[in-house]
Amino acid sequence: MKFEDFQISEPIKRAIRDMGFEAPSPIQEKVIPVILDGSDVIGQAQTGTGKTAAFGIPLIEKITNDNHVQAIILTPTRELAIQVAGELQKLSKHKNVRTVPIYGGQSIGHQIKALKRGVHIVVGTPGRVLDHLNRRTLQLGRIHTFILDEADEMLDMGFIEDIEKVLKMASSQRQMMLFSATMPPPIRKLSNKYMNKPEQITI
Ligand code: AMP
Repeated sequence: MKFEDFQISEPIKRAIRDMGFEAPSPIQEKVIPVILDGSDVIGQAQTGTGKTAAFGIPLIEKITNDNHVQAIILTPTRELAIQVAGELQKLSKHKNVRTVPIYGGQSIGHQIKALKRGVHIVVGTPGRVLDHLNRRTLQLGRIHTFILDEADEMLDMGFIEDIEKVLKMASSQRQMMLFSATMPPPIRKLSNKYMNKPEQITI
């Protein structure tokens, strides 16, 4: 299978070539078409498998020119938020998509300024995302995509209640993706409650 075979636009294919990816990884082969079709996805995969691009490629494809937050990605750590945002920025090199990482420990004023400039994708840690939602410096009422990355790690770090609060403040008309190496009961419960007939993909 080749990246050329996916129903994705030329600017994204060009960015993938620029990144030096030759062929889709196994999780990318399985996940990309399902996300492009609009289904919710539970992906059980470790880091290093190419899971970021597995959700990143179809996500960038779905971002429109509309000037509002269209997608939120929650990550357990600031490092992962920065890393995921960086990968999305590379994938959208030839498309007008603005992605910002927001995490605890960084000046909130700086983040508010970045959000005010208008962004399409927010990648953030749950506590800081919730803080912005409560301050109304971030609104998720018009998102089309909600992604939980490393959900089991977020559970271990005590973020499950924050995640649920963020989910309740976001549009319910959304496609949802959940990536986790393991599926402990609280994560399974969350997926049962908030996901719509998710396709389960394990690699
Ligand atoms: P991840 O599992 O998302 O953390 O990705 C691990 C690393 O593999 C990152 O540096 C990606 O940029 C890289 N990568 C992702 N997909 C591919 C691919 N299809 N071919 C080569 N490298 C890739």
